[in-house]
Amino acid sequence: MKFSVAAARAPPLRRYNKTFTTSQERESRVLSRVCNIAEITFRNVEDGAMNKISVAEARKKAAIGQQVCVQAWVRTRRDSKGGFSFLELNDGSCLANVQVVADSALPNYESEVQKLGAGCSVTVEGEVKASQGQGQETEIAASRVVVHGWADPQEYPLQKKRHSFEKLREWAHLRPRTNTFGAVMRVRNCISRSIHDFFQEDGFLYVHTPIITSSDAEGAGEMFRVTTLNLEQLPKKDGKIDYAMDFFDRPTFLTVSGQLEAEIFACALGKVYTFGPTFRAENSNTSRHLAEFWMVEPEMAFYELPDNMDLAERFLKRIFRDALEQCPEDMAFFNEWVDKTTIETLERIIDSDFERLSYTDAIKILESSGEQFEFPVAWGHDLQSEHERYLTEKKFQKPVILYDYPRAIKAFYMRANDDGKTVRAMDVLVPKVGEIIGGSQREERLDVLESRMKEQHLDPAAYWWYLELRKYGTVPHAGFGLGLERAVQFVTGMANIRDVVPFPRTPGNAEF
Ligand code: ATP
Ligand code: MN
Repeated sequence: MKFSVAAARAPPLRRYNKTFTTSQERESRVLSRVCNIAEITFRNVEDGAMNKISVAEARKKAAIGQQVCVQAWVRTRRDSKGGFSFLELNDGSCLANVQVVADSALPNYESEVQKLGAGCSVTVEGEVKASQGQGQETEIAASRVVVHGWADPQEYPLQKKRHSFEKLREWAHLRPRTNTFGAVMRVRNCISRSIHDFFQEDGFLYVHTPIITSSDAEGAGEMFRVTTLNLEQLPKKDGKIDYAMDFFDRPTFLTVSGQLEAEIFACALGKVYTFGPTFRAENSNTSRHLAEFWMVEPEMAFYELPDNMDLAERFLKRIFRDALEQCPEDMAFFNEWVDKTTIETLERIIDSDFERLSYTDAIKILESSGEQFEFPVAWGHDLQSEHERYLTEKKFQKPVILYDYPRAIKAFYMRANDDGKTVRAMDVLVPKVGEIIGGSQREERLDVLESRMKEQHLDPAAYWWYLELRKYGTVPHAGFGLGLERAVQFVTGMANIRDVVPFPRTPGNAEF
């Protein structure tokens, strides 16, 4: 049994707050954190005072009989012949709208209520009642409707008709008001929390690694430069740019990975993770690449490759399960409107083991597959997306962890195998998205690491601190990186990564 030092010392448990002892209590705590099934706590309000609640809360049976105030945006208005209007209101707290019945007796019924349309912002006060209509348990009988802002129906772009995701990217300031983007953002939030929960519950320490860096963790050179030099008038010395004049006295870049710095902390504190923005200046206009994305990178001392794989598998299953459990309404929406296999795929993955396959065996499978690939398959070449998708979608129909890649195509820090040809790399592939996680066991032997750096024409002196981790108390260690957006893409079934990030950064696009 492997223990942390903290567990072995078994400190007495000291509780400052009421903690939750039964599994039901924990369960209800977990559930109540979920936006759309939050506990409603009605404050004691003075007579006539209004209880401000969200649309999600107003839609619950528990709200019936309460005097409430809801603040939201109008999605639609329907006028009834009976002398009243229905307003559908949404405030982003959940996918569904709350229905408001606005009676013609309201003082501003004709002057304002009957002019409301998509995009207008309102405060509605009234009583929550059981709804007679289909599709909702409750509705609000308005006693007061205050209009905050109008949205001219001639100009407001988000009218009832559906817009393409491409079009909506041009309106990144308005697309959060659509059903799809609201759902994406709630699921993205859920996954972000799930990531922290998973690692925190497992004893990992959250480390904030720098965003500005002078080292290229991937050795691929696809980095954005950070400088305060005047580009119109660069300082020169011996005909070359004089970086001594730059802010940091050296060339600096936006980070492509927090791994190297995370290794420093893993080699002192055991299990750590970084989770932050990451930048890649690769000029690839694909549906799965962004120039700015969020990456979570756990790094663990005393982990070897199989431990790393176990962790990655447990981690992904946890994220998928949390999304299904905590965002049922949004997930049902994606399943209905975006990809009919979304929920089934996630459920199947949670219940089955990932396939683990060496790169060499994968090449054999691809060579004998009888498939016509655009890019030829050959040992020593990186796998293309079509190859990855064949393995995970057709051959195994589940996530596949590929490991032991040729050393020439992988980064210098990956641990060399004894065969002299491969390194302890691993990629986790999932259907549709392809690579979702990339990781490895790190090279902990100083001499091997130095010779690997030279092999890849990197200057060991530039990485002196990284090498010293191997000089003083080196340990086997491993880690991986998961792109948050690829995870959101996979969970929601959204086809393009630009539609699962608030403001996509891609070649030529940085408007918002
Ligand atoms: P790919 O081969 O798909 O370009 P990579 O091998 O360059 O990815 P890694 O350096 O292994 O990626 O990064 C770890 C993870 O970060 C990837 O598995 C992926 O989930 C995510 N990732 C990498 N590059 C991008 C990008 N440009 N946009 C979004 N996510 C990315
Ligand atoms: Mn990778």
